[in-house]
Amino acid sequence: MTFSAFTSIFKIIIVVMPLKQLSMQKIIQLNSTITCPACGFAKEETIPEDSCQFFYECENCKTILKPKMGDCCVYCSYGSKKCPSVQQNNNCG
Ligand SMILES: [Zn+2]
Repeated sequence: MTFSAFTSIFKIIIVVMPLKQLSMQKIIQLNSTITCPACGFAKEETIPEDSCQFFYECENCKTILKPKMGDCCVYCSYGSKKCPSVQQNNNCG
């Protein structure tokens, strides 16, 4: 193998790596960190795949969070990730 062949293979590897990371992000994320708007307490929660969670009680200050206007669930309003239905560009059921 010549040196130039080696460097071109190396370049291909560098190009492929970020593409893989991009496609990874398209996989639906079921972990979302909910940040309480009242006290700022953040906790990672697992989003239920088949339903939307309407109420969420903050572990720290016991505030019951409800979705904001136009949002279907607490994950869309306060989570770091939207709920699975919204991630798939569907309306929340
Ligand atoms: Zn709170």
